[in-house]
Amino acid sequence: MIDEGYTKYECDWREAPALPEEAVAELNAWRNRLHEQGLIGYYPQHGVGFGNVSIREGDTDAFLISGTQTGDIARTDERHYARVTRCDIEANKVHCEGPVQASSEALTHAAIYALDPAIRAVVHVHSVAMWNKLIDTFPTTSRDVSYGTPEMAREFRRLYEETDFGQQGVAIMGGHEEGIVSFGRDVGQATERVLQHQD
Ligand SMILES: [Zn+2]
Repeated sequence: MIDEGYTKYECDWREAPALPEEAVAELNAWRNRLHEQGLIGYYPQHGVGFGNVSIREGDTDAFLISGTQTGDIARTDERHYARVTRCDIEANKVHCEGPVQASSEALTHAAIYALDPAIRAVVHVHSVAMWNKLIDTFPTTSRDVSYGTPEMAREFRRLYEETDFGQQGVAIMGGHEEGIVSFGRDVGQATERVLQHQD
């Protein structure tokens, strides 16, 4: 079941110029590294991209995230990022601005940021090998819960409170095949937390 790439939330997008290059330089460098590793990419058979990265903007609830349908691009730049200004997880609503719309998994990122202000970056990748290796060994969300839903947000809260998700910063998305999410104090830490599980 590949349900990636289909925007399930209501997206209120305001088209705006690209963010300054320096605002996304570090985020983008790590994103391109994940793309090189095949952890962010594109399913040609489904015609959809997968994987996305974000960083929190200052001490706010806003974050900068890779844009929807950018997974086929090997080397992205500031033109491929959106700023999510506000999210309403219960109402499935995302407000964003930028040259592209936010990733279809922006609500997943918002749910992770809502867990703790110390979470500064979120990485979401796809890997069938890593998913099969880590599922039910690492904190795993219910297989009955799809991505980008209020139920998924509650699942992350449950894992954060009941497992070592808060310490390890990695969770497997049981109902989102191949899906893995990590967070960190910066995007480097969030990325390394995923890369260390690659064979
Ligand atoms: Zn995904």
